[in-house]
Amino acid sequence: MLDKNGVSGRSLSLTLGGKLARSLKALIFPVLYHGHARRCPVCGKSSRKFLCFGDLKRRDARCPRCGSLERHRLAWLYFTRMTDLFDGRRRKMLHIAPEPCLASRMRRRLDDGYLSADMEDPAAMVRMDVTAIPFPGESFDVVFCSHVLEHVADDRKALREFFRVLKPGGWAVLLVPVNAPRTMEDPAIVDRDERKRIFGQEDHVRRYGPDYVERVERAGFTVRVVRPEDVCRAGEIERLGLAAADEICRCDKP
Ligand SMILES: [Zn+2]
Repeated sequence: MLDKNGVSGRSLSLTLGGKLARSLKALIFPVLYHGHARRCPVCGKSSRKFLCFGDLKRRDARCPRCGSLERHRLAWLYFTRMTDLFDGRRRKMLHIAPEPCLASRMRRRLDDGYLSADMEDPAAMVRMDVTAIPFPGESFDVVFCSHVLEHVADDRKALREFFRVLKPGGWAVLLVPVNAPRTMEDPAIVDRDERKRIFGQEDHVRRYGPDYVERVERAGFTVRVVRPEDVCRAGEIERLGLAAADEICRCDKP
């Protein structure tokens, strides 16, 4: 049952539980992880280590203070060091599947130019499908979409939609996990266990290879691959916990 704000009783109790857990973490983690071996560029806080994360328990992955993962820290560094996104000029940005550690910081900087969107997440500002974006062409200056397309059956259509809603001269950062020699997909594989076995996660519909770049280019974009060493100063990769970060695809609409 949804109340007038679209919040169910269950999601409300989950939200309250989540808030309590966050409050406790905010009290305990600064003591538990006190140290300076690692620094998170997203929250700006130091800690003695990052936490393990993922099915395979990647070491040095999650910031104990803001929850950022490698890809979030790399994207944030990219936005803040390599672009003029936060220079104070008005920008319209579409952020798909907003990561909590990034969304609040982006919204604060971009004010009402910022829009987050998701198919299901009640925290997103707009509910939408990336293969049918409900905005006119040339609506946005920037699109940010990370680790979403591997869940989308028609990712080519989503890429065309991103291209369509960007203004000429606009750009997108479109991250996917690249973990195969060549992109592999099979729409006949719908069983969750099979998807996990073949694509690495039960709700993934493909594995991407380096040819992901060509798929993005076919949507009309000019693509530049950005690696952690392109964004970091000497010696920073370990301290910022970026050793396992994905590459970033910077995609420009001519
Ligand atoms: Zn952090």
